[in-house]
Order: sequence, then structure tokens, then C-alpha cells
Amino acid sequence: MLSGLRLILKGDDGDNGACLICGDKATGKHYGASSCDGCKGFFRRSVRKNHVYACRFQRNCVINKDKRNQCRFCRLRKCFRAGMKKEGEQNKFLFPIAGSCTCHSSHHLAPQTWAS
Ligand SMILES: [Zn+2]
Ligand SMILES: [Zn+2]
Repeated sequence: MLSGLRLILKGDDGDNGACLICGDKATGKHYGASSCDGCKGFFRRSVRKNHVYACRFQRNCVINKDKRNQCRFCRLRKCFRAGMKKEGEQNKFLFPIAGSCTCHSSHHLAPQTWAS
């Protein structure tokens, strides 16, 4: 139960910690959450193909290194709960960032009210 806590306290010893989804060794941050390659690939496949999974149980399956393949519904749900996001989704509602565009057109000049 404490593994999540340890993960946060564990610092910069070159260890990426544990996968937030299944507890396997994480290989880094993928889609916004520390995860192993298995869960990274699973999440990517799931969102790319818009898979809709169903849980055969009570939607509270244990997802760990050994059982992570038993319920894709619960695994994917755990991915989202761990903070994973579809590619590009976090930018969807953002306006174009001034400076990222070199076209000098007026839309970058509009929000002058921030300046003061
Ligand atoms: Zn994993
Ligand atoms: Zn399940």
C-alpha cells in the first residue's frame, strides 16, 4: 500500500521508480505518468485505436505486474487515473502561444491588456 508514497519520496538516484499502473519498473514518464514500457504501449494502442474495453467484474480489478493483462478496462482506467493523457489533448483548449509563431499577424498583438 505504501509503494505509491515511496515512489514520490524516492529522488534522483537515476531510478525511474515504479510504474503507477502496474508497479513494474518504470522506464520514465510516458503520456504524463511514470510507467513501464508495457503500460506505455498498452495506453498508446488503446487511445490510438479508440478501444472500448469492458470489465467482466466490478471495475475494480487489481492491476499489477502479473495481472495487468487480465482486465484491459481496469488497466486503461488506471492509466487515466495515474494522469496519462492522450497525445495533444492537453493543448486542445489553449490559444496559440505568442512567440511560437513568426507570422507577426495581428492575432498575436491582441491581448495587450496583460502588459500593464
Ligand atoms: Zn506498467
Ligand atoms: Zn476489471
